[in-house]
Amino acid sequence: MNIDETVVESIVKKVLSQLDAPQTQECCACGGEWGVFKSMDEAVNAAVLAQQEYLGRSMHDRAKYVQAIRDVVLDQENLEYISRKAVEETDMGGYEYKLIKNRLAATKTPGIEDLTTDAMTGDDGLTLVEYSPFGVIGAITPTTNPTETIICNSIGMLAAGNAVVFSPHPRAKEVSLHLVRLINKALAVAGAPANLVVTVSEPSIANTNAMMNHPKIRMLVATGGPGIVKTVLSSGKKAIGAGAGNPPVVVDETADVEKAAKDIVDGCSFDNNLPCIAEKEIIAVDSVADYLIFNMKKHGAYEVKDPAVINKLVSLVTKEGKSPVTDFVGKSAKYILEQVGISVGDDVKVILMEATEDHPFVQVELMMPILPLVRVPDVDQAIEMAVRVEHGNRHTAMMHSRNVEKLTKMAKLIQTTIFVKNGPSYAGIGVGGEGYTTFTIAGPTGEGLTSAKSFARRRRCVLVGGMDVR
Ligand code: NAD
Repeated sequence: MNIDETVVESIVKKVLSQLDAPQTQECCACGGEWGVFKSMDEAVNAAVLAQQEYLGRSMHDRAKYVQAIRDVVLDQENLEYISRKAVEETDMGGYEYKLIKNRLAATKTPGIEDLTTDAMTGDDGLTLVEYSPFGVIGAITPTTNPTETIICNSIGMLAAGNAVVFSPHPRAKEVSLHLVRLINKALAVAGAPANLVVTVSEPSIANTNAMMNHPKIRMLVATGGPGIVKTVLSSGKKAIGAGAGNPPVVVDETADVEKAAKDIVDGCSFDNNLPCIAEKEIIAVDSVADYLIFNMKKHGAYEVKDPAVINKLVSLVTKEGKSPVTDFVGKSAKYILEQVGISVGDDVKVILMEATEDHPFVQVELMMPILPLVRVPDVDQAIEMAVRVEHGNRHTAMMHSRNVEKLTKMAKLIQTTIFVKNGPSYAGIGVGGEGYTTFTIAGPTGEGLTSAKSFARRRRCVLVGGMDVR
């Protein structure tokens, strides 16, 4: 009998979707509940077994599993649920933005097509250089993009033939566990080995440490602040560190100022400034600064001029001007202004103020829609200041200018992984700009915008003797 594979798949999918509690118990036989395990050791061991089985699967299978992850996230009900839950649980960002970010991660993260083979042929035979899996990867994910990072890491790491153990931020536990379960169910329907994507029921620093120190974890990928990046880089294992940024945006006298104003407000306010790539401070040439402020106000910036209010904001949203207060990270401009007694409408998206270079709002990565503007006499000084306030993170920077020479100068001096010219920051991750997306941007370790090949080893396979057809 010839049974159509897709018909079987859709029947299995339907049956699974109708099961609830029994489905969970059934999977307990393998020690975990749809990829969620009680201990880190169990999670890692299950992923090791899964990866061994995965080695025997074809590239066609890998593509099918990657598609299953994309599909389960893009299912409207799931997409809406994880987007809403991420906002509710972390109390950061906005639902509409999370929808966009999750959809982006599911659609524009590269799959197996990223793994290109190099071939060398000649009198001595054929040599292939291919991307091969590391094995089991330990991935640490942030509160700011909890689900987006799990989606894009799962796609990239599985495309490269690995299994992955996630260590989510404890503040994003519920939504992260929910997503891991969803992915496991989708992978089961697609016929993947069980437990290619796993985590623990109680994410914690202790569990993250247990994962990092586990001998069977072959590679670590940390998406987060400087602390965790430093920790994985000191682990003695192959590690990718996607760390903090403090992206400056420079506007010079040749810029299309009206467009720059809109781009800056849009980029800075995206998901209430949570993305590590989002505009965090403006450095504007004095001759266009007033016109820029005027136009930013037209697009949803609220300018605070009273020094007393600015000081009040500093003591409210920073810990002594040194780091952000978590309760304000990812909050809306409207909410933050309300806390200092200013009531505004929903159209206000960014809190704008003039500041000097040494101001905490310029120096600290706030991750909230507070945007200081520093005036400088000319573009060369703007570029130099941008380099200083980026603090050598080499993460992201923007510049609005029509002067190719100065655009090139800034690109060379700032050395950021992402440099967006004449657009909002998110153009750098494939929204309104060319290119694929990622939510793990590895400046410190140099992989840049990570994709499947970042999670793979280069291996050479040599066949001796003529195999060329020339
Ligand atoms: P965070 O550093 O507080 O946490 C990140 C992850 O590391 C979490 O899972 C957390 O539980 C874990 N962690 C932190 N310290 C740890 C320790 N000492 N031991 C073990 N585990 C530890 O960061 P966050 O607040 O969740 O995210 C915001 C930061 O991440 C910002 O600095 C932002 O720029 C950065 N970020 C960078 C990228 C990128 O691609 N480069 C992407 C998103 C966020």
